[in-house]
Amino acid sequence: MSDLAARLSAIDLRIADAARAAGRDPDELTRIVVTKFHPAPLVTELRALGVREVGENRQQELSAKREELAGLEDVRWHFIGQAQTNKASAIRRSADAVHSVDRSRLADALHRAAEGDDVLDVLVQVNLTDDPGRGGVEPAEAARLAEHIGGLPSLRLRGVMAVAPLDEEPASAFARLRAVADDVRAVEPAADWISAGMTGDFAEAIAAGATHLRIGSAITGPRPDRG
Ligand SMILES: *Cc1c(COP(=O)(O)O)cnc(C)c1O
Repeated sequence: MSDLAARLSAIDLRIADAARAAGRDPDELTRIVVTKFHPAPLVTELRALGVREVGENRQQELSAKREELAGLEDVRWHFIGQAQTNKASAIRRSADAVHSVDRSRLADALHRAAEGDDVLDVLVQVNLTDDPGRGGVEPAEAARLAEHIGGLPSLRLRGVMAVAPLDEEPASAFARLRAVADDVRAVEPAADWISAGMTGDFAEAIAAGATHLRIGSAITGPRPDRG
């Protein structure tokens, strides 16, 4: 077995254990492999191991890999990084889901970039830190942004996304995210995704109800030194 295959299956075992410990069915979890900073062929290798959901956090890298790997039709690309409004149409062309919608102007720009009748999956990113400079909407504003997205027919609101703050126990941060997820579901009942949990905190995220895990380095190995 390759190192990559070994790391992938080790993480999947840990995900399944964390799910069972939380009384949840592992099959209800989607594991997104974050491939940022790694070259495109890594995605081809992952696909051969059965991976169908990958995540990228920079638009240029996402667009370049998507182009390079145009033959990999059944891979779903999740955009999980901060999005500039003026990059909305490039993001829309390359992403199957955008986890990082944190302002109505960005939602509007993604909507305007729609081509034909395609519908883009989007999540409201929630800022769980005290630092307003971090990505994400304030928790109290999430439902309002969800309502705004509800008025944009080319966007399908799927749920909420967050990164746990560095200076807080992930369990308490993810408990707050879950409350915000309830607010958003009150606006759009079908928006039942909770995108949370990375290499260091996915077990806590699973315990708090995460449905979509974004796991990078534990699977891909250390990122090449580019940021
Ligand atoms: C890089 C990244 C991840 C994955 O982080 P790891 O610690 O490598 O698992 C998850 N979410 C976001 C938003 C990221 O930028």
